[in-house]
Amino acid sequence: MKYILVTGGVISGIGKGIISSSLGTIIKGYGLRPTSIKIDPYLNIDAGTFSPYEHGEVYVLDDGGEVDLDLGNYERFLDVTLCRDNNITTGKVYQNVIQKERRGDYLGKTVQVVPHVTDEIQNWVERVAARPNSDGESADVCIIELGGTIGDIESMPFVEAFRQFQFRVGSDNFLLVHVSLIPQPSTTGEQKSKPTQHSVRELRGLGLSPDFIVCRSKNPLQEGISKKIAMFCHVPENQVVAVPDVDSIYRVPLVLLEQGLMDCMWEKFKLPPPQIDEPLR
Ligand code: ADP
Repeated sequence: MKYILVTGGVISGIGKGIISSSLGTIIKGYGLRPTSIKIDPYLNIDAGTFSPYEHGEVYVLDDGGEVDLDLGNYERFLDVTLCRDNNITTGKVYQNVIQKERRGDYLGKTVQVVPHVTDEIQNWVERVAARPNSDGESADVCIIELGGTIGDIESMPFVEAFRQFQFRVGSDNFLLVHVSLIPQPSTTGEQKSKPTQHSVRELRGLGLSPDFIVCRSKNPLQEGISKKIAMFCHVPENQVVAVPDVDSIYRVPLVLLEQGLMDCMWEKFKLPPPQIDEPLR
């Protein structure tokens, strides 16, 4: 099983869900089977009790799971049926850990965020990723979107869990995509890489190094910006990917493909590029 973790920097609502779904579409186009997990680091058990004014409508899965709208994007982009366990929240993780503690599963140990909560997160991800779909087939690649922004207090146990997880599954099986904002203040009209540099530094400080940096901007990236990000964020320039605003989100998989993202991905996963009859367009 290969795992792709998608994190976000600078602001929320930057397009992590669309990038995750688009990666899944491309992977599916190559004949592999993707699945996905959305992590929402809030304490609610699920999205069922949210005010629609705050979060938009609740998306209801086939098994009745009430989840974030991103799961709807995954189902549409990936043409898969997901279940309530494909959405992990802090509330669900703590509920499980507390139930185990009450049952005495921890054999009298002091129950702590590390290792008990972080182990629960890693076990959950592995269990759901390995679960066969309705046709009895298991996925080849699991795309995990970590909601919120790197640096949020709420997401810390998840970041720590994935820091450990990269060693649990091995570096050939784990890839990190960091989606960050490139703002363009109207006063100068110049795109700025500094917020991205800071968010990548924060991510590295937490023990996770991005393989790809996806730059979300209003307009196409200006000359020199990818080079600057590559240099200051310590990634090769061909692994800095530009995703400007597009008129239809269904164009995003093409924008990613055009930049040769998949060649680097097969290399990182040490997989031969899957042979397909027609190139994806
Ligand atoms: P996040 O998962 O980071 O919260 P989403 O993927 O839900 O962000 O995207 C937030 C909003 O931005 C959605 O309405 C989505 O359709 C839109 N969006 C995302 N990427 C793009 C893009 N490249 N161009 C235009 N709109 C986009």
